[in-house]
Amino acid sequence: MSSSDPRTRRVITRAWQIPTCEGWIWSIEPDPETGLGGAGHACKARASHHIAAVRYTGGAHTPADRDVCRAHLAAELDHLRREHAWTWRLQRVAMPAPTITALTLTVDVRGWAHGHKRWHLTETDATTTVIALELFSTSPPIPTPPPRRDRTARPGAPAPQLALFTL
Ligand SMILES: [Zn+2]
Repeated sequence: MSSSDPRTRRVITRAWQIPTCEGWIWSIEPDPETGLGGAGHACKARASHHIAAVRYTGGAHTPADRDVCRAHLAAELDHLRREHAWTWRLQRVAMPAPTITALTLTVDVRGWAHGHKRWHLTETDATTTVIALELFSTSPPIPTPPPRRDRTARPGAPAPQLALFTL
């Protein structure tokens, strides 16, 4: 991979290293009047995109990166845009637009052939590309490597025919 290639690739050997969506799913919506209460849980679907963003908190720019699935990408960007608009309105501080990176997880077939569970996480810039969104969060299946061929299990050459017995 050349240095001009916009993609970066990370090797993943443990399942917990696979980025998961940080979006929030409400099972009970909070009170619309007070914004209090409610119950929910983190999405935890496999993240399809990474948002690199900056927030303005306490008078300083702080990084606010997030991993999201296709169902939570739009909501997260919306929230960020609204927050940036408020920062401009109240503090007159212009915030940089977020950058979006597409995350692609593939199986390292060579590693797998040697008995190592390994994946490659490829990051491609997707800030200007059209992204297909989903209504519900899903973790698409990771392509699995072809089954290992076991040499001992392969059938041997067919036994020579004995023409004598058939006479
Ligand atoms: Zn999600």
